[in-house]
Amino acid sequence: MPALVNTFLCRKGFSGITLFGRIFTNEQGIADHLNARNSVMKNHEMIHLRQAQNTANNWLCFYALYGYYWLKGACLNRKRKNLAYYLNPFEMEAYIHEGNLRYLEQFEKGAPGWREYRRMSIPERYRLMMKKGKIPGPSKSGWR
Ligand SMILES: [Zn+2]
Repeated sequence: MPALVNTFLCRKGFSGITLFGRIFTNEQGIADHLNARNSVMKNHEMIHLRQAQNTANNWLCFYALYGYYWLKGACLNRKRKNLAYYLNPFEMEAYIHEGNLRYLEQFEKGAPGWREYRRMSIPERYRLMMKKGKIPGPSKSGWR
């Protein structure tokens, strides 16, 4: 899955976005980094690809569920910027396991970790992500 530069699809302030099996970014340097072997960022996006395989192997199903979980948590953004994003079960799995470059090797039918996180309450998700250090402070950028 090569990363491509597309400033229309990947807005400023974001590192990359996975759309229908392709990674789009807004800078060539980021694309080069993503295309490098053993990249944590690439692993993050690959986890999303494998999550789509785990949602009936259908991108539309993945995006519908992703949007559902984001909307379900949208009111959380009033408490802290982008909290709905970080507490989305799909992002939780990607962020928590992005540093383990062998994480996806154990799954034949896509990445299923999001199913575990969706069963957690919002406060449980928040505590887990804070414990893992995966929710940056409001001044940090580099959203994925
Ligand atoms: Zn992500």
